[in-house]
Amino acid sequence: MKLPNDSNSTGRDLGKEEIALLKEVIESGTLNATKGTMVKKLVKEFAEECGVRFAHATTSGTSSLHTAIAAVNPDPGDEIISTPITDMGGITPILYQNAIPIFADTDPVTLNITADTIRPKITKRTKAIIVVHLFGKPAEMDPIMDLAREHKIPVIEDCCQAYFATYKGKNVGTIGDIGCFSLQQGKHMTTGEGGIIITKDAALERRIRLFIDKAWGYGDPNPDHYFLALNYRMTDLQGAVALAQLRKVRGVVKRRQDTAKLLTERLRGTPGITLPESTKDSEHVFWKYALIVDTDLFGVGVTEISKVLKEKDIFSVPRYIQKPAFMCKVLKDKVTYGKSHCPYDCSSRKGEKEVVYDTAEYPGTMKALEQVLVLPWNEFYTTEHVDYIAKNIKEVTESFLNKKKQGVR
Ligand SMILES: *Cc1c(COP(=O)(O)O)cnc(C)c1O
Repeated sequence: MKLPNDSNSTGRDLGKEEIALLKEVIESGTLNATKGTMVKKLVKEFAEECGVRFAHATTSGTSSLHTAIAAVNPDPGDEIISTPITDMGGITPILYQNAIPIFADTDPVTLNITADTIRPKITKRTKAIIVVHLFGKPAEMDPIMDLAREHKIPVIEDCCQAYFATYKGKNVGTIGDIGCFSLQQGKHMTTGEGGIIITKDAALERRIRLFIDKAWGYGDPNPDHYFLALNYRMTDLQGAVALAQLRKVRGVVKRRQDTAKLLTERLRGTPGITLPESTKDSEHVFWKYALIVDTDLFGVGVTEISKVLKEKDIFSVPRYIQKPAFMCKVLKDKVTYGKSHCPYDCSSRKGEKEVVYDTAEYPGTMKALEQVLVLPWNEFYTTEHVDYIAKNIKEVTESFLNKKKQGVR
């Protein structure tokens, strides 16, 4: 059975609505957002949908995160706490603003960072906390916000995988100070590439707006280029597609949740696997469907299980990422600006403890990566698709279990 796939039309809800708005933009002859209408409509509707005052469009999730970091304005050598299990696009912007990524350990089952893992990483140089709602499952925000408020540290929520996921009834992205979204091909809504950034805070909004557009003070009485900034503007072509996508995304989320719930029902009670679920407090939006596999029980790793599933046309990503972010070359060897290792070795770090990333501090992360098996999820999955996935997961895990038992005897 061939499953719908988000890399092409089998698994993307793109059609006449997108084409109609795109046609309007092309026929208008105005393709940029400065003079166009689509990005303006997009950000207005997005902000309304989230229930915040401000939204701005950018070129990617990465540039949204870069903008968020620039908005909190770290000094060189300041520290920003994040998670070692995420897209590198959420981490490298920290270094681009000359701040240092510091990692909190993740929970081995949700793969999200928690107040308890963040707390020991806070220092007097901590300038922000980036919370990723991984796979669409909201992080435990109340304790994180309490901790952040106690230390007066702003919280940036990375919602690239978590469109309209809710925590205690609130949309993620609206709980912290800034929310960041990606419109890359594989996200809940897409323009191929693109991003959105939201906030309730007028002062942060001003810095966000300026950073996206070379920090030129449009509309000010004496405009200038006020500070170091880039051009991260979305085009109105993307704006048109994103606007049509926004009007569909609630449906996309609902369909993903419904079929995910069905898979959870089908798999409940299967020995050796822990299922991703919504709880009373946090509603999962299933960017991916991540299983936690008891690899000791099966006597094989997630890579082997993934291989056997692939023979049945069920694609999955064992480990999600090969290694935690801090083990990637860019961070491990501090490959940054020229030969400098800045900001790690800058004068602004004089007298500070050297930043060393030590896997021993990340038992939750190491365990999570060893045990997670990530199934792609899609709004076009049907009951038949779900039944097929469930049947094969049960058969494959059962056969590994039997082999292990026979081996032991
Ligand atoms: C996709 C993603 C990003 C980066 O978004 P791009 O649009 O690819 O730059 C950042 N963080 C998370 C959690 C993501 O899933």
